[in-house]
Amino acid sequence: MDMSVFDLFKIGIGPSSSHTVGPMVAARRFLLDQGPLDDASGVTAELYGSLALTGVGHGTDTAVILGLMGETPQDVDPGRVDAMLAEAQRRGELSLLGVKTVPFVRARHLVFHKTENLPEHPNGMRFTLHRPGGDTSRVYYSIGGGFIRAEGEGTAPDGAPAAAVPYPFDTMADLLAHGARTGLAIPRMLRANELARMPAEQLDAGLDRIWQVMRSCIARGLETSGQLPGGLNVKRRAAKLWQQAQGADRANELPHDALNGVSLYAMAVNEENAAGGRVVTAPTNGAAGIIPAVLKYYAEDCKPLDPVSGVRDFLLSAAAIGMLCKRNASISGAEIGCQGEVGVACAMAAAGLVAALGGSNAQIENAAEIGIEHHLGMTCDPIGGLVQIPCIERNGMGAVKAITAASLALKGDGTHFVSLDDVIETMRQTGADMGAKYKETSLGGLAVHVVTVNHAAC
Ligand code: SF4
Repeated sequence: MDMSVFDLFKIGIGPSSSHTVGPMVAARRFLLDQGPLDDASGVTAELYGSLALTGVGHGTDTAVILGLMGETPQDVDPGRVDAMLAEAQRRGELSLLGVKTVPFVRARHLVFHKTENLPEHPNGMRFTLHRPGGDTSRVYYSIGGGFIRAEGEGTAPDGAPAAAVPYPFDTMADLLAHGARTGLAIPRMLRANELARMPAEQLDAGLDRIWQVMRSCIARGLETSGQLPGGLNVKRRAAKLWQQAQGADRANELPHDALNGVSLYAMAVNEENAAGGRVVTAPTNGAAGIIPAVLKYYAEDCKPLDPVSGVRDFLLSAAAIGMLCKRNASISGAEIGCQGEVGVACAMAAAGLVAALGGSNAQIENAAEIGIEHHLGMTCDPIGGLVQIPCIERNGMGAVKAITAASLALKGDGTHFVSLDDVIETMRQTGADMGAKYKETSLGGLAVHVVTVNHAAC
């Protein structure tokens, strides 16, 4: 497969990789592909399926507008977004890629097709550029984790040609076979593959930057209180609970309190994500808290001798698991439910922790397999279409499960009953069998039940 660690870990903004990051990238790419825009007279964006059903809660509408303006998830300033959108709305026009101003009225130029799906994926978009000489349209799909694909395009990220790497793999069995043949650990092989794409300085600087953005996100989340946007009136909890934990009377500490910090780190990230802040997609935004939380646990609580190398090994090994899940199942909640987001992030974090702590390749596989196995069948049913309930707490739980999975794997000798490849295939089949209402549509599960209860109370 041709995927890089930086395809799995992308610096972006919240609240959703498939519903915010992907649509922003697609809108910008559509216009970049249209050549000079001098004669453009307007643009229309149409959203289908899950993007239409939960797009407003996930910020898809604002992401599309920002993408049309030429903004990118990694460079847009989250603190300026509201002002940019308000200005565009006040003027009733958009500056396409910052070079051509056209009329733009949300109600007319941003269309939600809630009862229609496009054929290749539940997250479909059609963009149309209007010109006096004729309109041009193209369909894109946001296929999870910020990846996009134009209609009819292959599955390689952004249609990129495959790089020749020394340790190619499509399954965990491939990776284990390379390891058995060469004696190399999984993070060493992943590193060698990345070095076929970029120099060592670029790789290390990129990995260090990912960790730095993750750490900053946790710190902001642990300091920020208030209410999350979107209308559910959800209060941010991580900062308050963190302050309580810092001042706690240690004599009254419960035996499980050591893991409280980990779940609060994860919740801090997901509260930042829900507020539209700067996060690292890992492998999605909805599940962005798990890997940073377990990495912080590794770097601070496990007292590693060489944390810099350990963090890099963690990220490379976690990316290997994410690549396998994306290739052989999905990392999109709209495609296979939350097992593909929180379940995959848990498996990635568990594998990363085992690798950073020096576990064998078999133990890394075992940890990842445990991480997915105990999320199989988990549905995606965000209340109000917002990445808040159950997503924020779910990340806290996923982080704790990842540490438990790593601990179980490290205490064993690597032999285990279910292979990672088998559990990924099980996740794929389970996702295929799952009803559409449980796949990021907010038409089933918790989303519907809570709305019904609230209505009954009114
Ligand atoms: S329930 Fe899971 S998959 Fe769905 S939006 Fe929340 S984190 Fe993402």
